[in-house]
Amino acid sequence: MKQLLNITVKFYFIFQIIALGSCSTNHDSYFNKIAKNDIDLPKSKSGDWLFSHKEIGQSLMQFKKSNPLKPTETANLIYLKPIGNFTELQLKEIETTRQYLEIFFQLKTVTLNKVNNEVVPAGSRRIGPQQHEQLLATYLRDTVIAKEKPKNAIAIMGITEMDLYPNPKWNYVFGLASYQEGLAVSSIYRLQNKPLSEKNFKLSLIRLLKISSHEIGHIFGLKHCIYAQCVMNGTNSMLETDKSILRLCSNCQSKLNSSLKFSNEKRLKELICFFKSTGMKNDLMMLNSDLSVVK
Ligand SMILES: [Zn+2]
Ligand SMILES: [Zn+2]
Repeated sequence: MKQLLNITVKFYFIFQIIALGSCSTNHDSYFNKIAKNDIDLPKSKSGDWLFSHKEIGQSLMQFKKSNPLKPTETANLIYLKPIGNFTELQLKEIETTRQYLEIFFQLKTVTLNKVNNEVVPAGSRRIGPQQHEQLLATYLRDTVIAKEKPKNAIAIMGITEMDLYPNPKWNYVFGLASYQEGLAVSSIYRLQNKPLSEKNFKLSLIRLLKISSHEIGHIFGLKHCIYAQCVMNGTNSMLETDKSILRLCSNCQSKLNSSLKFSNEKRLKELICFFKSTGMKNDLMMLNSDLSVVK
């Protein structure tokens, strides 16, 4: 997904102990149990992310040694900042994404007041090669989003309904992030082929859930996953993103948990409720399997 929300670090990315009954098992036991449900990655073929990118993976030990960003007493909220003129359905998509991220990272997630597209001056807009107006992603990230980042934020993601471009040479970009600064901006413009409707809502929502949890996962120090099917797998195209899954594999869950210290059982049960309420049957099935192995 590096390509989707292409990168910067100055790289731009053109993009518990689980209480079971009266006793507790340790973290290792939890992750070992759910590891049985990790799904092997298929052999990569031409066009796939892993076919053209030599990823080396990241063990739990390597993750801890990388000094990943962690919530502190004073900075522990995730913020979403809508930029644009949204339809009711698009606002519902953002609110559902907020609910998902709050469960996924087990950190309070807040949507800030939206601002309209006029925050982007004429010099940071253009009519792109496909003859529609686009906004300069770097301006949004470095000027609009960076300024809006509250003091108690650990990460902030701008969400725009307009198409984005990262620089004059590029046709478009799905989003842009600066992981070390905890900043990201993402467009929902290309997440569906036609204007958002009840018919394509779920597809667009699942894509936004994958992209936003993947990118914020990077902000928390997770590298691309090469161990199993996982939302932290790199993807080269929307087609590959569509084949990827929302579940974090056991290895990536253990890494995230080592930083964020959430209750695995609480997170799992809340995700299950989320997938039930949104009718995401495949994701629900996978997490029900996790619940059955940790019981
Ligand atoms: Zn990525
Ligand atoms: Zn993983």
